[in-house]
Amino acid sequence: MEGNVEVLISREKVEARISELAREIEKDYANKDLICVGLLKGSVMFMSDLIKEISMDLRIDFMKVSSYGGGTNSTGVVKILKDVDLDLTGKDVLIVEDIIDTGLTIVNVKDFLKQKNPNSIKVCTLLDKPSRRLVEVEGEYVGFEIPDEFVVGYGLDLDEKYRNIPFVGKFVKK
Ligand code: 5GP
Repeated sequence: MEGNVEVLISREKVEARISELAREIEKDYANKDLICVGLLKGSVMFMSDLIKEISMDLRIDFMKVSSYGGGTNSTGVVKILKDVDLDLTGKDVLIVEDIIDTGLTIVNVKDFLKQKNPNSIKVCTLLDKPSRRLVEVEGEYVGFEIPDEFVVGYGLDLDEKYRNIPFVGKFVKK
């Protein structure tokens, strides 16, 4: 399986960066009421590793959104397939995402969650492809900026496979 995937960011580098992000988050959220909201399914491995490294009280929840129909640069185009279960009123929400690409998913999810009156909303993403943005949005916590390449592993899929690869890889057709 892994024969088709070249290492782009090794497991060691990903794990080291996740520890750094966790330290920043601990510092910024000291005395806050943190809820980490992971976006299914891509964020699962990142979310699980990240929260293990955060030494403070927190809660977790998950959302699932449909991907937008391609070829558009408008917002409001993702469907909420699974909403959060927890009450976010007055809470400090950290959206945990695998990758920000065009930015459409994050913009829509942020707008949706804002309606639940949290105290704050920020974004933590493992990967960022800034060159692909269609809407202006940035993650406050970014693991790695990557070039415009299709990546798999560490939760990211191709046709629902490769999510379990423990590094970020570049898919190469053989
Ligand atoms: P955006 O709405 O920012 O364009 O896209 C975010 C979603 O697109 C991610 O959550 C992810 O599911 C998918 N995506 C974007 N780039 C890649 C990539 O290089 N590899 C994989 N596997 N998924 C990607």
